[in-house]
Parts: sequence; C-alpha cells; structure tokens
Amino acid sequence: MGKIKKSEEEWRKTLDPESFKVTREKGTEKPFTGLYWNCWESGVYRCVCCGKALFDSSAKFDAGCGWPSFSSPVSEESIETQTDTSWMMTRTEVICSDCGAHLGHVFEDGPELTGLRYCINSAALKLEKKMEE
Ligand SMILES: [Zn+2]
Repeated sequence: MGKIKKSEEEWRKTLDPESFKVTREKGTEKPFTGLYWNCWESGVYRCVCCGKALFDSSAKFDAGCGWPSFSSPVSEESIETQTDTSWMMTRTEVICSDCGAHLGHVFEDGPELTGLRYCINSAALKLEKKMEE
C-alpha cells in the first residue's frame, strides 16, 4: 500500500502534531475545530503528507457534521479504502493512495449523484486555493 515510504520519525519531523496524529496514527480531530469544515473557497484539497490532489472544492458540501465532507474524490485512484473495525464499529477508512495517510471515513448517506459522504479530517488536508482571474 502506498508508493511513498517514510519512517514514523521522518513524518513526525515534517508534520505538525495534529496532522501527525490524524494521518499517521489514525486520529480524529474534534468536530467544528478544523481549518476546513466551514471553508468554502474554491481550490484543490491536497494530502498534507505528500501533496497528492485528493478532493476538489466543487465536491464539498455542508453535512453539518463538523468535518469537511465531499461527495467524491478528485479521481478514483487518488484514494483507497479499507475496512476499519476499531471502536467496535465497522466503517470504511479512506487513505491517500500515494502515502497511506489516514484521511477519514466514507459513509453511504451522502447527497445524490454518488450517495457517498467522504468525511475527512481538516488536519489531513491542505487547500490549494484557485487563483481568481
Ligand atoms: Zn498522501
């Protein structure tokens, strides 16, 4: 899994503590605290670890859950999913396909079109804003 391999120590050096906890230790930021849950600027959300383009702001919607929510990723190959059975729940975990960063989970209660809700931690993302003409 993942094309980018770094040791825990290397990641710890390049990430801030919150991003490290979320992406490398499968943490979850507290709802309504992250940088992007209420951010509606246009641009591309990239992986905070490796810079891969993951989600476009056009797919972002307000799910009212306190985390950035997207109806679909930038492309099918930008993310991978795997079953997560921690906390006595069965959920589908979303990870970056390049570096294996934990991003969040995907649920099947999203809006029309895809019916999916990618519930992603702000700390796993970095928004690259679109330049206005
Ligand atoms: Zn990544």
